Amino acid sequence: MRRKFIVGNWKMHKGPAEADTFADALKRALAGRDAAVDVGVAPPFLSLPAVVARLKHTGIQVAAQNLHAEIQGAYTGEVSGEMLRGAGVAYCLVGHSERRQLFGETDAVVEKKVHACFRSGLLPILCVGETLAEREAGHEREVVVRQLQAALGKVQADQVPSVTLAYEPVWAIGTGKTASPLQAQEMHATIRGWLEATYPAFVARSTRIQYGGSVKGANAAELMKMPDIDGALVGGAALNAEEFLQIIAAAG
Ligand code: PEP
Repeated sequence: MRRKFIVGNWKMHKGPAEADTFADALKRALAGRDAAVDVGVAPPFLSLPAVVARLKHTGIQVAAQNLHAEIQGAYTGEVSGEMLRGAGVAYCLVGHSERRQLFGETDAVVEKKVHACFRSGLLPILCVGETLAEREAGHEREVVVRQLQAALGKVQADQVPSVTLAYEPVWAIGTGKTASPLQAQEMHATIRGWLEATYPAFVARSTRIQYGGSVKGANAAELMKMPDIDGALVGGAALNAEEFLQIIAAAG
């Protein structure tokens, strides 16, 4: 009952012109496909309008990479969920490890942003994951469960399945080191177990959990075979249309 969901996080790559060309290529490549897999892209803010326009009526989802928790105000350089929704954006990444590590986003900020998504009508893609030091100390499960509790603690059970969870071990992001399918499955099972223990049964059954961390055309199929892996959040490999399409094909 969970459709796989592949999302490309472009990070700070592809300005409007390049984004438009890429979205057009994706649209042509996926036209008329048997849509067994949900697909989305997360361009930088400035490229969102071009990509939203280009992907209208294609079924390819558009996500922002970040939002501010407030509706409006004196927050120089920030963009609210309401502005993103108004621009036709459907999803928003929240709590990406680069936001947590490089921009000081705490669990409390991530929680506010999850609620800002719901307030503005955006669907959150909530990223969680441990650092290498946390894994080496054997704390990976408690870190991920802490992040989930902090971000989702006040979310109503019936809203949880509209959150896409993305397990992204920090040591695997942009490093070329992928979690093995078994390592990833183990954490995905922990996350699903936490959902089962926390909410009524339908929540764990229907909430999607993506894996992220150096997913490529060559390793996607093995990861996607795992029973609790419901898609991927892809960084570097999503910048190349051919490679991104291979990952989508591997998920189908
Ligand atoms: C990401 O940015 O979410 C990510 C998983 O990056 P990469 O695929 O490059 O590791």
